Amino acid sequence: MLFKGVAFRLASDLPPEAASLLQDFRLAVNKAVRASLDARVSSRNGITKLLYRTFREEHPGMYAKHIGSSFEVAAGILKNHRRRVRHGAHCGAPFVKRLMMKAENQAYRLDRTEGTIDLPVRAGCHVKLGLVVSQYHRRYLNDETLSLGSLTVLPDRVIVAFRKEVPKPIAASSVLSLDTNERSLDGIFVEGGKRGNGRCVQVEAVFPDVAKIQQRHHERRRRLQRKKAHDRRSTRVLCRREGAREHRRVDYRLHHVASAVIEFAEGHESAIVLEDLRGVRPNKSKALNQRLSLWPRRKLHQIIEYKAAWKGIPVIKVDPRYSSRRCPICGRIPDSRMGTRTEFVCECGWHLNRHINASMNLLQTAISKGLKVAGGLRFSPGAFQHDVMMILYEPAMAARSEPNGTSHIGVTP
Ligand SMILES: [Zn+2]
Repeated sequence: MLFKGVAFRLASDLPPEAASLLQDFRLAVNKAVRASLDARVSSRNGITKLLYRTFREEHPGMYAKHIGSSFEVAAGILKNHRRRVRHGAHCGAPFVKRLMMKAENQAYRLDRTEGTIDLPVRAGCHVKLGLVVSQYHRRYLNDETLSLGSLTVLPDRVIVAFRKEVPKPIAASSVLSLDTNERSLDGIFVEGGKRGNGRCVQVEAVFPDVAKIQQRHHERRRRLQRKKAHDRRSTRVLCRREGAREHRRVDYRLHHVASAVIEFAEGHESAIVLEDLRGVRPNKSKALNQRLSLWPRRKLHQIIEYKAAWKGIPVIKVDPRYSSRRCPICGRIPDSRMGTRTEFVCECGWHLNRHINASMNLLQTAISKGLKVAGGLRFSPGAFQHDVMMILYEPAMAARSEPNGTSHIGVTP
């Protein structure tokens, strides 16, 4: 099952009954977290067994299903907490700070045509929440194949989880093989079929500003740490704010790039080949830069994989070992001193842009692993040396500039 969270702004202020429900819910979650930490239980079932009866007595007015979902939220928080502790973080008991509540799919009703939500607060008391519905939202509301998952209510917006059966993967008739770099995705696009090698083009998706944004925010954090060295609390608050802003700005750009890739793959019925970045560890000597660059690359892959799964586009992940150093023609691994910074050169006479070369190796690995394309894929690397460059995404192609906080939340054109 696939999930997609869609945020809706509320058409009017939250009614007072709902506002107090959010407060009760937050209280319940925090209580459940503390009690479970004391009793050393962490699963939702464990928490339910431990606490349901007492909670029922303490909150006689609360809708029973909401109590259950407060346990689920608590279990999620505990899971994150345990992971942080495992990674050696020193942190106290976690708690929810912001007002929120989560309702399970049977515990609310969404009128898809009206765009209203009916949320039970307690027996006999329901509130109606009007949603701001845009064209983007209509796509999800009108799609009958999507069922509803949980609902998250926040003071100014709600997030509806739409569910979808995993679609059957499309039969790919071409391949898009992409090598992920700090500032771009470069690769090749090969069409299958009868006519010789099919069409080969180099593709490029550039996002130069992601690295710049990260560098800038990193510098700002360093400056804050120096300036506020005497006050660790405000350093932490300010740095966290910087971090959140950086995340949003980078995320926004990555989504655009991923959408461009998916749109292309969908239009050309392509399978996508990516490198598997899971095993990649940053090199110690260049630790900082590599750490900075690895996160957005992994994130970008996540977004591409997710969007692809939603549309049934096959994604093949391959081991990137030697992909940037091997010659796709003769299989040699030439001395790293050969060639230039941008050009891969081999003793056998082969030379090509390093990134394109790497994507070619990724495609070869994918083919050797059994990647099949409708109509057959005749792939001869030689055809690429003189091929045209195709631009998949450039920042200027995203017509809208960065959101400024006044536009709709969660709406991506
Ligand atoms: Zn060679």
